[in-house]
Amino acid sequence: MRGAVLHAPGDVRVEERPDPGIEQPTDAVIRLAATCVCGSDLWPYRGIEAVDGPAPMGHEYVGIVEEVGGEVTTVRAGQFVVGSFFASDNTCEICRAGYQTHCVNRQPGAPTGAQAQYARIPLADGTLVATPDLPSDDLVPGLLAASDVLGTGWFAAVAAEAGPGRTVAVVGDGAVGLLGVLAAKQLGAERVIAMSRHEPRQRLAREFGATDVVVERGDEGVARIKDLTGGLGAHSVIEAVGTQESMMQAIRATRPGGHVGYVGVTHDVSLPGEELFFSGVHLHGGPAPVRRFLPELIDLVCTRAIDPGRVFDLELPLEQAAEGYRAMDERRAIKTLLRP
Ligand SMILES: [Zn+2]
Repeated sequence: MRGAVLHAPGDVRVEERPDPGIEQPTDAVIRLAATCVCGSDLWPYRGIEAVDGPAPMGHEYVGIVEEVGGEVTTVRAGQFVVGSFFASDNTCEICRAGYQTHCVNRQPGAPTGAQAQYARIPLADGTLVATPDLPSDDLVPGLLAASDVLGTGWFAAVAAEAGPGRTVAVVGDGAVGLLGVLAAKQLGAERVIAMSRHEPRQRLAREFGATDVVVERGDEGVARIKDLTGGLGAHSVIEAVGTQESMMQAIRATRPGGHVGYVGVTHDVSLPGEELFFSGVHLHGGPAPVRRFLPELIDLVCTRAIDPGRVFDLELPLEQAAEGYRAMDERRAIKTLLRP
């Protein structure tokens, strides 16, 4: 099969790779209908995270089940399925509490790489959710979004306790931040403030439900959020970047007693204990348990209640994955969808 491999920072190549097969009786092999480039793929691409030899890339996927192992009972060949970036059994105590990304049997969601024609998915029963029917082609981007960026934005909004009567501020205008806006709106937030200085992203944020846009960042961004909330700060803040600046912006923009939902993968963030102690804010986040939300998100996409696939503003054949990475790296694209 063909698959994307990162050889060194800035060097992604689509090349011949071994066809994945069933290795464990709990595995499934899927044929990818669509895959994409994640913001977190850019960390090794930019050399900020070490590249450990040639690495197969991609962890966001939707596709048709080709084959299942002998112990798989909940999905079968021919079904259209959505999974996410960690495989989980969905039966252990941690999974049953809704924290499948911390499953005691957790494994990578697509260890053979999802930016490819085929992928092996471990723990298929716990990891994959089948759609009710084969979706029409225009629903595929939305279902692919559910695999990571929508599920992550949704978790961030839930962790930040977005809901009726709440003002939600969103730090970060990448795909996750934009879908955090959509999630906050869906969860009934009264006011959603998107923090973005990029006009096309501001426009999409408004279409997803943002009521206000703040272009300032850092201390000035915090001051603007306070201006908009009677000096108190937002009830709920979604942090979808993962830097020291964005994390502090999120904490300082939250009112005492409010909640920060942080889902940007942190890089060199350290929190000042004394400031945290006196802030009185709740912090909750980490790798999103996308699996918890998949049945609901698949339903919302398939009934066309939401259209999260609009975050994909560049679509390329898999063979042009390198250009897909470049476009995201240079911020020419919010998110690249790849068609195998
Ligand atoms: Zn588990």
